[in-house]
Amino acid sequence: MLLSSAMQQEITSQQVAINSDMTPARFYEPLSDYRVRCMLCFHKCIIPSGMPGICRVRINHEGRLYTVVYGRPAGLQTDPIEAEPMYHMIPGHRNLGVFTASCNFRCKQCHNWHITQRGPEEVRALRYTPEEVVAEAIRRRSRSISHTINEPTVFFEFMYDISVIAREEGLLNLFHSNGAIAPEPLRAILKHMDGVVIDLKAFCDDLYRDIFSGELAPVLETLKIIREEGVHLEIVNLIIPTINDCMDTIRAMCEWILKHLGPDVPLHFTRFHPNFRLTHLPPTPVETLEEAHRIAREVGINFVTLGNVPGHRYNSTFCPACEEKLVHRVGFSVLANNIEKGRCKFCGHKIPGIWE
Ligand code: SF4
Repeated sequence: MLLSSAMQQEITSQQVAINSDMTPARFYEPLSDYRVRCMLCFHKCIIPSGMPGICRVRINHEGRLYTVVYGRPAGLQTDPIEAEPMYHMIPGHRNLGVFTASCNFRCKQCHNWHITQRGPEEVRALRYTPEEVVAEAIRRRSRSISHTINEPTVFFEFMYDISVIAREEGLLNLFHSNGAIAPEPLRAILKHMDGVVIDLKAFCDDLYRDIFSGELAPVLETLKIIREEGVHLEIVNLIIPTINDCMDTIRAMCEWILKHLGPDVPLHFTRFHPNFRLTHLPPTPVETLEEAHRIAREVGINFVTLGNVPGHRYNSTFCPACEEKLVHRVGFSVLANNIEKGRCKFCGHKIPGIWE
């Protein structure tokens, strides 16, 4: 999900120091000499006392790990759920996005680099308790809360506590992630989640390291765990010209998805627009996205859509059985919804997702 331009200006025009109250972090182990090993994500940072981890928001103070973004969102942003993109969860409903500073990746194309590639001392922080976030979602008539825009793994404790309260209040929970969270915290948070969107940024470990400063294997493991746990999953693949637009690799990625996750996980191919450190590249040609769509359908993925191309036919969702248009979208707007009680209203085919 993109940070709105108004929010970008507001955040980057104010710089405040991080607050001094730090909240104890979960998922770490103490080491000798007051060092700790954070076990929250694939980096498994070993952090000396007085230092932060790679994500900059988890800090070792005298042998104990703390998070400095608990209760300190950089913003709360209301959008249609389609902006996530989460297409199989009550189309058209209003979602509250929660985000903080920083990230555990360093993606060269990041659209939200204003907050993700900055430390907490460089980004304006609000002050909200988990209860207040949920109250704000209800006040804004949101039916769900997503943890999104920056990597929610880095504010795990805040996300967790919000999700517990949100579910008690009858809201849906989801997060949008790069998927590099470690298995134990992932399984813990999935107990409180209704849906997850994972960016599968490429299907090649070298690209993961060079372009995104990540690793492919932990992301694939995350995808399998989400399916195992039975939480609704959608996958986003941003196609960047000359970087990850090899159709043979896209085919291999689709075959992996089919084999390990099944045919019913919605797959979104989204269009790249020049940004951050990749401004020298052109936007993704629409023909490239269409070719990826054709390959994914040929491989056997049932629900394939194109993003960042408003008005395109494949911005909408089609029934894999009768090929009628199930959800007619233009950008983030839903113009028609032909799913009734979780089934295609034309042929009765069951459509995976959360519809009521
Ligand atoms: S969450 Fe942050 S501190 Fe923990 S392992 Fe990942 S990058 Fe390191």
